[in-house]
Amino acid sequence: MQTHPYRCQHCSLALPDQRSCPDCTEQALHLNKIVAAFDYTHPLDSLLMRYKNGLQFGLAPAFAELLYRQLQYLQILPITNSCLIPVPGSRSSLVRRGFNPAAEFAQQLGKKLQLPVEHFVLRRHEHHLKQSSLSRQARRAASAGLYYCSRRIDIPHAILVDDIVTTCSTLDNAAQALRAAGVQHIDAMAIARTPDTFI
Ligand SMILES: [Zn+2]
Repeated sequence: MQTHPYRCQHCSLALPDQRSCPDCTEQALHLNKIVAAFDYTHPLDSLLMRYKNGLQFGLAPAFAELLYRQLQYLQILPITNSCLIPVPGSRSSLVRRGFNPAAEFAQQLGKKLQLPVEHFVLRRHEHHLKQSSLSRQARRAASAGLYYCSRRIDIPHAILVDDIVTTCSTLDNAAQALRAAGVQHIDAMAIARTPDTFI
């Protein structure tokens, strides 16, 4: 991830100065830490768009490698006794893209970290609004109750995997569903973190 003088220790958001993070101060998060491979800025943003919208699956191992290096840099490897849980996309985006970018990335990351991937435990309700055009506050409201788990998962630790973190609200709601199903501690990993200026 690009070096940046100020970054939220909790969610990796690049900050303009030492001010507190808008994503982590306004709400009590249900997850411990979010790590991303890189910031969602030029030129890597276009690579991610090619992956998501251009069916370039071959980029997933490279993204997993970049995240692996970031985890090495942060000295949080090895990770044991955990599993990866991809954030499910909406049915319409699955039909449009033909795959779930978060799930494909989780599969590659699982190989790299030697952790199992649980693909079907976290589910998404289908009645929610498309989030990409909403403000931070509207996203938080729209994603409340968006996810649920299909069964109990009594495990001490799990890692949510997503493609792009725009605000923490989506991941936090997914974490809330995992907590309700029995997971005690939850972290999250993503390919990219959107800088605050994009919102
Ligand atoms: Zn933060």
